[in-house]
Amino acid sequence: MHISLFSAKGYDREFFDEQIGESGHTITYFEDILSTDTLALAEGSDAVCVFVNNPVDRKLLEGLSKMGVRVLALRSAGFNHVDLEAAEDVGIPVFRVPAYSPEAVSEHTMALILTLNRKTHKAYNRVRENNFSLDGLTGFNLHGKTVGVIGTGAIGTAFCRIAAGFGCRILAFDPKPSDETREAGAHFTNPETLFSESNIISLHCPLIPQTRHIINQKSISMMKEDVMLINTSRGALIDTPAVIRALKKKRVGALGIDVYEQEENLFFRDLSGEVIQDDDITRLMSFPNVLITGHQAFLTREALREITRITLNNLTAYEMDKPVQNEIKPKPASES
Ligand code: NAD
Repeated sequence: MHISLFSAKGYDREFFDEQIGESGHTITYFEDILSTDTLALAEGSDAVCVFVNNPVDRKLLEGLSKMGVRVLALRSAGFNHVDLEAAEDVGIPVFRVPAYSPEAVSEHTMALILTLNRKTHKAYNRVRENNFSLDGLTGFNLHGKTVGVIGTGAIGTAFCRIAAGFGCRILAFDPKPSDETREAGAHFTNPETLFSESNIISLHCPLIPQTRHIINQKSISMMKEDVMLINTSRGALIDTPAVIRALKKKRVGALGIDVYEQEENLFFRDLSGEVIQDDDITRLMSFPNVLITGHQAFLTREALREITRITLNNLTAYEMDKPVQNEIKPKPASES
């Protein structure tokens, strides 16, 4: 198959170039996202490959179908950015890359917690300026603290294992509790108990109507005064203005996010010379107890190699008329 790969970064090229020869497919890279402006670039391709933050709506899918593109391959686990019903209507199957490296995301989750807690980002800057004062750097022991995990699929369960290693008590909520998660040390409970008893709450559920703004004014009001909130899943799980109000009132102790509701206008680009128009993210950046990374939790060599391998395998299976296990249909049973 000939693949048009959009939003191509240097690290995408590195790992696709490494594996494309062996796969028997061919590839053209485009730095831009797939949009009505760039749709024409996909002419002559069998497959189009996109990443997160690339909304693929009905209009784009109709355009792809008209030009003979047969498949949409996502280089991501999440798929809330694709109109799956429209894809089904125009007959374009959509493939994703589930569970390419739960450890990459769960380890970054713990990195956010440790940085916010022990303030290593501040210590780094202080020491470089010969400021060896410890004032303001006090953290807390993770050992013995309660960590609430919302969504215990591949990433949530991997994170439970890490938190258990630190000696945390783990409360979990998932509509489908699993023995694997229990074996990782988690106790399943209801959201209310999780909200009220956790010192740290980490989100690992998909973005679906039931989980949109799961962190909102009401859920925050149930939490401990100095709760630490962590989101490495999808930005819209958090009602950002509600969290900003809670941070201002010191109702939330710390916030660590790798994802942000309006991130498609910001992330994956160098905007250092621009004036940021998004007032919520600039307000968030002004808090000393907020840590933001730009959707990099997936970014390890192991994860990139696996994303590439699974993406190419999905296309090979489709081309050979084999069932593609990673095909996503509208409202999959696992997330309804
Ligand atoms: P997964 O499908 O293995 O697990 C998702 C879990 O959420 C499932 O166990 C499901 O039952 C549960 N869930 C569904 N509805 C829920 C609800 N209402 N409340 C609580 N839990 C619910 O997915 P995964 O591989 O663990 O990924 C989780 C999310 O992480 C993805 O949806 C994606 O948005 C995000 N992600 C982020 C990055 C990053 O770089 N920041 C990378 C990969 C994935």
